[in-house]
Amino acid sequence: MEAVRDIGTQTRLAAAGAPPAIADLDIDDELKELEEVSRDLEAFTLSANTRLAYDKAWRSFKTFCESYSLESLPAHPEVVRWYVAWMSTQVDDWGVPRFAVSTIRQHLAGIADRHLREWFLDPTRHRGVSDLVRGLEKLRATRPGRKRPLVLDAVVRIIATMRHDVYPAGISAARDTVALWLGFAGALRRGEAAGLRLDSLELHPTDGIHVRVGPSKADQANVLVDVVVLPFGSAPRTCAPCAVHRWVVLLKVSGIQDARERRRQNMRWLFDYQLDDHVCGADGRVGLISELDLASSAPLLRATYRNRREARIHEAGISGDALHSMLLRRMAEAGMDSAKYGFHSLRAGHVTQARRNGATTDEIMRAGRWQKADTVDVYDREFNPAARNSVMRLGL
Ligand SMILES: [Zn+2]
Repeated sequence: MEAVRDIGTQTRLAAAGAPPAIADLDIDDELKELEEVSRDLEAFTLSANTRLAYDKAWRSFKTFCESYSLESLPAHPEVVRWYVAWMSTQVDDWGVPRFAVSTIRQHLAGIADRHLREWFLDPTRHRGVSDLVRGLEKLRATRPGRKRPLVLDAVVRIIATMRHDVYPAGISAARDTVALWLGFAGALRRGEAAGLRLDSLELHPTDGIHVRVGPSKADQANVLVDVVVLPFGSAPRTCAPCAVHRWVVLLKVSGIQDARERRRQNMRWLFDYQLDDHVCGADGRVGLISELDLASSAPLLRATYRNRREARIHEAGISGDALHSMLLRRMAEAGMDSAKYGFHSLRAGHVTQARRNGATTDEIMRAGRWQKADTVDVYDREFNPAARNSVMRLGL
């Protein structure tokens, strides 16, 4: 960034649209001193808090520019537009925008301030920038904030609506059931679920299935690996491991080259679908799959192709966005209004259901892999107003 700071006076004035003649003047020491005095005075024109906010905004903008190799000073209005667009897409754990429109305006003020102090034209005044912020303001005013939680009953209802024991519909039903349990029981975000590989899973004799989230086993450098648990269900209809076993069997079948044989095997497994007994190895039975079937770095949740007659499972993984749309579609099929929901609703539903069933903040933080209790509190305030609330102890 030194190169930017060393930009010549001539260039700066040209950028500011000022007459170039002044640059030819030999500025003597006295004038330089006056320049410093004027800079000091400038510092008093803004309150200390505003100054801090502007500096913070400027550092954020500079980092953004550096990460895309864009010039930050002077910045082209188009670059500022990209920055506004970037800020508008940043969301926190709950899907809530990280930058409120007022914060975005403050960032723009910080960028403007730095440009004006350095004698550049203010790129934030460009019509394209102000229109974008106004548009965003309108959009935010109409869009709901947090995703509503989907609690256990809702998840079970969505899964029960799917057609599991028919071909070809049963193929995507098997995958989507696993995705739903990963989001609800595993409290995984959409990107985390989409990023899982077969060898992220480990069958456990008493716990159910352990799922390594984040960096793969091969990535030894990163020690911050989280493991979430998909426990055996009390009944097959709430058993996430059963869903995993059924899906991985279909993944194995998808590797069969002969189309007729593949179709025959797919039908066999789908027609066998039942909820009377576990197929996951719970209850001391033998599961459909073994640890050997998970010894692959292929994606767990795959894209599928389907027409009326047949379904294929692709080798490529499904995207997080596709998981999100899948959930909305499955909700609609189950006759539910999906307007305020998203894949994050499953993770939110985990927190809500766990709290209703008496889980402690510690337990929820562990399952959701949160570092701070504050994050869990946010959700209690929003969705569990009765949790840890003395009103429930009034004996009413
Ligand atoms: Zn099971």
